[in-house]
Amino acid sequence: MTANLYALFASRFPADKTACCIETHDGQYYTWGDIERASARMANLLSSLGLPSGARIAVQVEKSPEAVILYLATLRAGFVYLPLNTAYRAAEIEYFIGDAKPAVFVCSPQNFGWIAQIAFKAGTRHLFTLDEGAGGNGRRNSGSLLARAMHHPDQFETVEKQADDLAVILYTSGTTGRSKGAMLSHGNIGSNAQVLQQYWHWQADDVLLHALPLFHIHGLLVAANGALLNGSKMIFLPKFDAAEVCRQLPRSTVFMGVPTYYVRLLANSGFDRNTCRNIRLFVSGSAPLLTDTFAEFIARTGHTILERYGMSETAMLTSNPYASERRGGTVGLPLPGVSLRLMTTDGNGDDVVCGTDQIGEIGEIQVKGPNVFLGYWCMPEKTAEEFTADGYFKTGDVGKLDSEGYLAIVGRSKDLIISGGYNVYPKEIESVIDEIDGVLESAVIGIPHEDFGEAVTAVIVKRPEATLTTADVIALMKNTIANFKVPKQVFFAEKLPRNTMGKVQKNLLRERYGT
Ligand code: AMP
Repeated sequence: MTANLYALFASRFPADKTACCIETHDGQYYTWGDIERASARMANLLSSLGLPSGARIAVQVEKSPEAVILYLATLRAGFVYLPLNTAYRAAEIEYFIGDAKPAVFVCSPQNFGWIAQIAFKAGTRHLFTLDEGAGGNGRRNSGSLLARAMHHPDQFETVEKQADDLAVILYTSGTTGRSKGAMLSHGNIGSNAQVLQQYWHWQADDVLLHALPLFHIHGLLVAANGALLNGSKMIFLPKFDAAEVCRQLPRSTVFMGVPTYYVRLLANSGFDRNTCRNIRLFVSGSAPLLTDTFAEFIARTGHTILERYGMSETAMLTSNPYASERRGGTVGLPLPGVSLRLMTTDGNGDDVVCGTDQIGEIGEIQVKGPNVFLGYWCMPEKTAEEFTADGYFKTGDVGKLDSEGYLAIVGRSKDLIISGGYNVYPKEIESVIDEIDGVLESAVIGIPHEDFGEAVTAVIVKRPEATLTTADVIALMKNTIANFKVPKQVFFAEKLPRNTMGKVQKNLLRERYGT
């Protein structure tokens, strides 16, 4: 039997193919039949290009139902889907194309010029455009991908895949500043989606309000896959907008978001019990949900947000339970099939697993299970480093377990900053700042922020004669890197605090600038 993820979804599509699969915020409907036919046309187009098996289809487009169709078409045709954050600019795209060597790149029409230059130079043979305003039945403008796909048949026999075959590459930055492509197989993604369907009690009549981006694990592999596997309708918002979410919530039963979304909903005075009257489940993840937000949400709506934890390399690992107690400040229990342990060092400096008699002891979270990825794209040494001898993946997150096995994440061993649900790696930002004229050195830290969870904050030591201002730094950075990585605050200091090993003591900086 094939392990192709699309075949798994298709086996669960509703019998009535005229039912709605995706409804856009402006009232367009895509039935399950539309999705099948449109993904078949696109799969035929991709197959007609004569690409080798395992070819990467890199995609940097605005969110749209057609982007979901492209994802499904890539799976159907047996190629590898590689979504990229829409905020990425030239330097970042150049790196991803150089690293992943995609055979096909699909971009927004407005980016065609500069992406074409990068892509063709790097040997990418096929470049298509996909407009966010694209729509079925020629209702709106489309781009070359849809124009070409229209000439292909609307039937396609889904390519056979094994569970271990590569399906999706998700790029996750590294602390060294070098992004790593996490390779997820059909089996990794399919098994995780099935576990979540059971664990979160997906219902036949569920309607998912989808406000997350599609290029990240949360919006693509948790939210969209959840609805596709359950044959549930999605109400599709192009992006999170608190007022629009409040308008659509009464028509929905499931909502998933990053903590920032919940903070923004609570800041909206119209958001109340009545808005949430039909909601069955609110899920939060990608960054820590503050216990204040968790408690305020219960008080305002009567709903207890279910917090879960996962990462690009592993898909979902833990979740608060559906039917029993959801504990604020924790990410719940290991999902079925996930083996999770905390690793610490003993008195001799040797690695040891925290025992059950050491409740509350902090250790590095390590995991094993069918959801754990195949490894990093073209980085066998890095992959080997991140696994233990007995096959556990080292998440880089640090946590502790309570007496009933609920996991709390206490920090990130690698100083990752999560701002608005996006990962920001200090090292990458520091390298950009250090290039600016007048900068001697810099340190980038995350400072708690009500709205973003953490705000990217830069501490800069200027060269003696430099006249650099905060505004200069921010303006220069906005031209260089994605907006979500640009520091929200910039401080100037005489020098950076360092330990005896010469390492910058970021904990001291967080204390100094975090209040
Ligand atoms: P990503 O690969 O972008 O999904 O980022 C994964 C990282 O996000 C994890 O390694 C955690 O550090 C963090 N993360 C995800 N979910 C949570 C959560 N519920 N609470 C705290 N951190 C989280």
